[in-house]
Amino acid sequence: MATEACAVCDTDVRIAGGIGDLWSFAFESTQGLTLELVDGSEFFLCFDCLERLPDDTEPTAADVERLQAAAETDAGTAADGTETDVPSK
Ligand SMILES: [Zn+2]
Repeated sequence: MATEACAVCDTDVRIAGGIGDLWSFAFESTQGLTLELVDGSEFFLCFDCLERLPDDTEPTAADVERLQAAAETDAGTAADGTETDVPSK
């Protein structure tokens, strides 16, 4: 098992350790995945941040950057466990 930092919220999340884990890891043991964008760029995101991407269109680097900006804005308030909505603009 290894960890990788989410590109948006900078949280270390657990990922499957390698090809040998391909069938032995359960989905609950992996908390993020590498998102390949249509423009060819890649970002590792935790599932929480993946859920904040728009699901009606292909996510782009701009969407990831918008989440990054929102995460920085939320940094002081996210620790209290309340749901914070991403501003829609
Ligand atoms: Zn994240």
